[in-house]
Amino acid sequence: MLFFAGIIAVLIGLKVIAQLWLEHLNQQEVMRNAAGVPESFREAMDEGTYKKATEYTLAKGRFSRVELIFGTLLLLVVLFSGCLPFFYRWVVAHLGTSAWALAGYLFGVGIAMSLAELPLGWVEQFRLEERFGFNTTTQKTWWLDRVKGILLALVIGYPLLTLVIKIVEWSGRWWWLWAWAVVMFVQLLLMVLAPILILPLFNKFSPLPEGNLRQRLLALGERTGFHAKSIQVMDGSKRSRHSNAFFTGFGKFRKIILFDTLIQQLGEAELEAVLAHEIGHYKKRHIPKMLVGSAIGLLLMFFLIAWLATEEWFYRAFGFPTGSIVPALLLFSLLSGLFTFWFSPVTHLISRRFEYQADDYAGRAMQTGQPLVSALRKLNEKNLSNLTPHPLYSAFYYSHPTLLERERALRNLSFP
Ligand SMILES: [Zn+2]
Repeated sequence: MLFFAGIIAVLIGLKVIAQLWLEHLNQQEVMRNAAGVPESFREAMDEGTYKKATEYTLAKGRFSRVELIFGTLLLLVVLFSGCLPFFYRWVVAHLGTSAWALAGYLFGVGIAMSLAELPLGWVEQFRLEERFGFNTTTQKTWWLDRVKGILLALVIGYPLLTLVIKIVEWSGRWWWLWAWAVVMFVQLLLMVLAPILILPLFNKFSPLPEGNLRQRLLALGERTGFHAKSIQVMDGSKRSRHSNAFFTGFGKFRKIILFDTLIQQLGEAELEAVLAHEIGHYKKRHIPKMLVGSAIGLLLMFFLIAWLATEEWFYRAFGFPTGSIVPALLLFSLLSGLFTFWFSPVTHLISRRFEYQADDYAGRAMQTGQPLVSALRKLNEKNLSNLTPHPLYSAFYYSHPTLLERERALRNLSFP
């Protein structure tokens, strides 16, 4: 038992050392390029902005090191202090072993851990982001967001957890297949319902107003066979000056959402290029492909939990009594990151491929890569992006190729 706990401790150590080392590599790379704007970025960023972007990257690096060390210590304390089995026995003794009580235990641990991380989140928004002029969130909005998040977890997450525990009781040894099907169904349902029911709890959405821009974007939609019913603008400026565009839902429920900050920062041709990129994701079926990927991951996860739940040593290693699925669910959710972290370069490789494909689509739809290049440059500039991440760092953390990589690919596009 001690042996297994020891292995887990070593895995926790390996992961945090790798992450700190990646931060170090990235910092070195940024410092190496700090003297002046590198040749290839002269057109993309002026000296002043580049200096500010360097400072922002370094400040974020320092902050994530604090976050990493804090998160690791928290995990070690939670796993090895005995507080989890202690609280579990307390719940069983006082509230019984109903699915609601046991799901309440999982929910309680989740809330307690996110409360422990709350102060760091506050510092990130009101110190780090504030210092670089990105923060536009008020204290009231920030705290309300946290409360809404907890309430949503209570309304959606808690009943779903209860249902999974009930499924284990009802369906015996094949429970993991049923649980997987139910969770997948809820996930698909949420993809459809989130833009209608959940996102409006946090942001205001309005259709893009009549005018030149709207005409132009709708014409692009027609031309590419996307047939956007409406393009929505989200008040992203309520929280931050960072800008973005995204795509929600799938099939008939698809929706394109542009941040108001994006519309302020880009010209019409550039916004058209950004929309063409988002349409590219749709046309190349990236969303269903990602869904299939996450469905396989989820199935594997439930299968592993089902297996671990039959292994006595797994329960004993962390001081839990055997006989219930709940400790396995909890330990799995706490420990899975120790393994999945090492696969992040693979998942990012896939998402970067998707980004190249969407860029390629956008370039072809517009018969030129130029507007997208100019949009990407502006976005990197406004968001103070790190133009020179260490390759290993970007392999582990970047879901998008860097500006230079995307520019290179867009310039190499040839039109028949
Ligand atoms: Zn994209």
